[in-house]
Amino acid sequence: MKKIIITIDGYSSCGKSTLAKALAAELNYVFVDSGAMYRAITLYFLRNHIDWNNKSQVVKALENITLEFGYCDDNATSEIYLNDENVEWLIRDMVVAENVSEVAAVKEVREFAVRQQRKMGDTKGIVMDGRDIGTTVFPDAELKIFLTADPAVRVERRFREMLTKNPHITIDEVKTNLEVRDYIDSHREFSPLKKADDAIVLDNSNLSMKDQLKIALKLVKERLETSKV
Ligand code: C5P
Repeated sequence: MKKIIITIDGYSSCGKSTLAKALAAELNYVFVDSGAMYRAITLYFLRNHIDWNNKSQVVKALENITLEFGYCDDNATSEIYLNDENVEWLIRDMVVAENVSEVAAVKEVREFAVRQQRKMGDTKGIVMDGRDIGTTVFPDAELKIFLTADPAVRVERRFREMLTKNPHITIDEVKTNLEVRDYIDSHREFSPLKKADDAIVLDNSNLSMKDQLKIALKLVKERLETSKV
């Protein structure tokens, strides 16, 4: 059975991971949330008081970081481990969200993450979501989706998600965080967020998960028929 690489990029809170997860489950592919890697690195830097503007501190710290994904039966998805500790829940914290885009803009951090992400795609059969997956990590991916959604819809989605963690969070805090992250992510020097020329834009503002999945599966079918893999 032929297997391809599928990339899903886009701005924060467009539902990239939700679609990637569903697609991977449907195709029996590996799902990788690349944002979780940048979040886990940020968590490590915060915990260990690493100054990410100091190159030698960053390089040294990265030598002490091991990132792995492990399948969690209870949640039926892969979860991230930082030095053998499951940090899937901790990395969703607001303090991580407020610092992750700065950390992810550091060249050495990106090189560290991209190296591992490329290795995960060695055997194909992977759905990876992020910001630069179709442009930098897998420029030759057979299917690239660029997911978008109305900003108000994105804020509302992330707000509802964050409320389960922090009942005191306000919608304005969430809105500001998304705007700041999107700005930094799309203006950074290395591997900024942008649509790959050959990516297909999918606006899911008014689409149910079922509809999005149906569209994505149709695209996969087409690519499987036409790709030389
Ligand atoms: O996808 P998520 O919102 O969890 O990503 C968190 C942050 O990680 C993004 O705002 C971005 O700064 C960074 N990121 C990145 N490149 C990726 C995935 C995420 O720079 N491929």
